[in-house]
This record gives sequence, structure tokens and C-alpha cells, in this order.
Amino acid sequence: MTISFDGKVCVVTGAGNGLGRCHALALAERGAKVVVNDLGGARDGTGASSEAADTVVDEIIKNGGEAFSHGANVTNYEEVVDMIKQTMKRWGRIDVLINNAGILRDKSFSKMELSDFKLVLDVHLMGSVNCTKAVWDIMKEQNYGRIVMTTSSSGLYGNFGQTNYGAAKMGLIGFMNTLVLEGGKYNIHVNALSPTANTRMTEDLLPAPMLDLMTAESVTAGALTLCHDNAPNRTILCCGAGGYAKASIYETDGIFISKKEQTPENVIENWEALTDPTNHKALEAGGKQTEKFIMKAMSALQN
Ligand code: NAD
Repeated sequence: MTISFDGKVCVVTGAGNGLGRCHALALAERGAKVVVNDLGGARDGTGASSEAADTVVDEIIKNGGEAFSHGANVTNYEEVVDMIKQTMKRWGRIDVLINNAGILRDKSFSKMELSDFKLVLDVHLMGSVNCTKAVWDIMKEQNYGRIVMTTSSSGLYGNFGQTNYGAAKMGLIGFMNTLVLEGGKYNIHVNALSPTANTRMTEDLLPAPMLDLMTAESVTAGALTLCHDNAPNRTILCCGAGGYAKASIYETDGIFISKKEQTPENVIENWEALTDPTNHKALEAGGKQTEKFIMKAMSALQN
């Protein structure tokens, strides 16, 4: 089986450097027409330049592909809409959106300015919301869409100095979960990529021998897995250094405590049973949790 993106129109945000650049080149190599979006700022989000995105476009065209660059700042909805309008004018559809643009403003929470917290949320979370909003109705009308969020182990599990980044990255999982429910009947699949790779974001964090294993290409293989015709839906795919894994949120089956006994003391008393992972499940909608608790209560009352 060969995965082709022939004729597909793909928008990749933050595609001037690192992972986004690698995704854009790989999509183009497999036949996609690619919008290379990048603001062209520094790792902390300061500055702007069209140079990085233009270089990626030149590379794609030199290899016989089709691409154009757009310098929209993903935090600016009007600029994002302009990028999507230009894409529609040129190519008439949008099949794939990879929300990849990102910055870092790391500091321990007590030292972090709220402005740095908000900016990181704005770029990662609202940037992905803006781009998704701009393509959503187009994808609905086409009855086809593939969207990838770029999350992180920092959001899924935490990382010292990254409360802002972690909150934004986990917010993207919540965003994905509901988009999946709303986009299902329109053949829109939404997935999340949790990468770890050697880019300017990580170059000073790990020693060289480890970084050498953590190629962008190893992550791009995962990114393309999440956005082709037969892509999964609602999958968090973790990739790095040639390792691939799926992350999930599971909930234990839990317990029921009768009305008169609903006290914190009794919750603690039953801790072992309520945290027992036997029969834990990944629930497919928030309502499933309410359903489970009501069923438990009803069956206890009937007995
Ligand atoms: P990178 O810094 O090399 O690339 C990020 C790109 O996003 C840059 O080219 C930058 O100019 C662009 N960008 C930043 N703000 C933008 C904005 N407002 N509008 C448009 N473009 C903007 O970093 P990377 O490592 O390639 O990161 C790509 C994505 O992967 C990010 O979302 C990052 O959080 C995520 N990620 C990376 C790693 C890793 O190990 N490298 C780990 C987890 C998650």
C-alpha cells in the first residue's frame, strides 16, 4: 500500500522550519499542493519574516511540486482567513490542515508572566482554533477533511517550566474530541500528533547523540498517517526517534455510593475500588460518563 496525496490541497502552519517544513516537503513529494504557512519569528514568537516559508516553497517547486507561502500569524483570524481565501481561489478546495505552528515561553509557574502564559495559549490553542474555523465549513461542504492538531507529552503528562505550553497542548485534545463528534457525519477526521524531535525547539535540551536519533522525518511519517484518506479518527499518535505509540485517556469503571453515605470519608474508604483499572474504558463522549453513573445508581437502587 502506498499512501498518496495526489491532488490534495494541504495547509501546514508553521511550515518554515522544523516539523512543519518536513511535513510540507513530504506531502508535496506525495503529490499534494501545499500552503506553506509561517510567520517566520524566533522560537519565543518574536519577530517575523517570509524567508523561511519562501525557502520551503522554492524547495518544493524545485522538486516539481506545487506550493505557495503565506505569512499569516495564526493568532490573527483575519490573516488566516486571507490565507484560506487565497488557497480556495487558487486550488478550489482544502483537504488537509496540519496545525503545527508553535512557540515556547518556558518558566516555572511562579516566575511566569501572565502575558507569556496567554501568548502561548494564543499561538498553540487559538492559532489552531482560528485555522480550523477558517476551513471547517469548506470541509463540511466538500464532505471531506483531515485535520491534525500538534499536541505534546508536556500537555499529556506535564513538563517542568511549561504550564502555559502544557495547558495549550492539552486544550487541543479537548478541541479535537468535540470536533470529532461534530465532524463525523461530514467525513472530517481529526487526530493529534504528539512529537518529539530535534528542532530549534529542543536543540538545547538534549545531548547530540540523542538528538541525532530524533529526526523530523520520523515524526512526519506519523503526521501523514493521521491525514490521508484512510486516516484514523480521534487518535493521539506519539512519535519520536522511530518510536510510535498511541496515547489514550481511560476512566475506571468506578463505584456507586448510596445517598446517605456520600461523604468524603466514604469516597476515601472506597479509593482502591474506584481507582481499580480493571474494566477501565476510553469513553467516546462526555455524556457516556453521566450514562455510566446513572446506570450504576439505577441498578443499585433496583437491588
Ligand atoms: P520550530 O520552532 O522549528 O517550528 C515552529 C514554526 O512555527 C516556526 O517556523 C515558527 O516561525 C512558526 N510559528 C510560530 N508562531 C507562529 C504564528 N503565530 N503563526 C505562524 N507560524 C508561527 O518548532 P518544531 O519543533 O518544529 O515545532 C512544531 C510543532 O511541534 C509545535 O507545535 C511544537 O509545539 C510541537 N512539538 C514539538 C516537539 C519537538 O520535540 N520538537 C515536541 C512536542 C511538540
